[in-house]
Amino acid sequence: MSKITNILKCKCPNCQEGDMYEHKGSIFLLKMPKMKKYCDKCNFKFEIETGFFYGAMYVSYSLACAEMITSLVIFWYFMGLSPLNVFLVVVIATVLLSVFNYRLSRVIWLYIFYKKQID
Ligand SMILES: [Zn+2]
Repeated sequence: MSKITNILKCKCPNCQEGDMYEHKGSIFLLKMPKMKKYCDKCNFKFEIETGFFYGAMYVSYSLACAEMITSLVIFWYFMGLSPLNVFLVVVIATVLLSVFNYRLSRVIWLYIFYKKQID
């Protein structure tokens, strides 16, 4: 599988088989994703060092900005909604995608800094 497919499926960067999350969370159930400490298949430790995933906030921020700009362009420019309606749609879209951003930003952050372990 390609790296992008592995990122979207939240697969381990070391073996590309194990799942990084125990459950993927849901905004409708108000449940955040729960990340495993180690890969089930290769025993790779996901949190490389303490506080490693704080940096994923930068990725999450850029994902949220990209989604907000995309929804702004779609609903204002193409659908011609009023500014207040566009604002409400953008806020709702951002809230609905927050769990997805949280999960994906950690995976992207780990893939950025992953180096293949040589045994
Ligand atoms: Zn693995």
